Amino acid sequence: MKLGFAIKSLFLKEFVQAVFLSMRYFFAPKATINYPFEKGPVSPRFRGEHALRRYASGEERCIACKLCEATCPAQAIHIEAAPTNGMRRTTRYDIDMTKCIFCGFCQEACPVEAIVEGPNFEYATETREELFYDKQRLLANGDRWERELAANIRMDAPWR
Ligand code: SF4
Ligand code: SF4
Repeated sequence: MKLGFAIKSLFLKEFVQAVFLSMRYFFAPKATINYPFEKGPVSPRFRGEHALRRYASGEERCIACKLCEATCPAQAIHIEAAPTNGMRRTTRYDIDMTKCIFCGFCQEACPVEAIVEGPNFEYATETREELFYDKQRLLANGDRWERELAANIRMDAPWR
């Protein structure tokens, strides 16, 4: 009889504790988010999809020095260059995103902050070919993300 009472008391205590625990987590801030409708914060140093930037005038920043190509450990970048209107410009700028290891060396090497890795991480494709980026694609990325790219570079500048 006494044993039955002790078991019942123990069960009740455990039950009450479980209810309180559930309630505490029910009202606590959620640890998960409703992706893709909600997105978590992205660090200004996040190394996402590549982009080629322009100056505010619309002029391409890239001076075709090929430092990014030379430094890329994955040999993912291919550049061809020629003088254009007295300036050295790329005639071809390709990145094979299937080779890229997102080390950020290209961005670090660039003297004019032309090639950057932006905050975009949503660029999954259905085919391999779609991950062979050309200059038009990279410039379009730069145009699309310029506000965020410039803000991230500004934020990170004190630590560079
Ligand atoms: S992030 Fe690294 S691997 Fe990718 S293109 Fe730049 S240098 Fe090459
Ligand atoms: S992106 Fe930068 S490092 Fe690469 S070729 Fe252009 S200027 Fe040079």
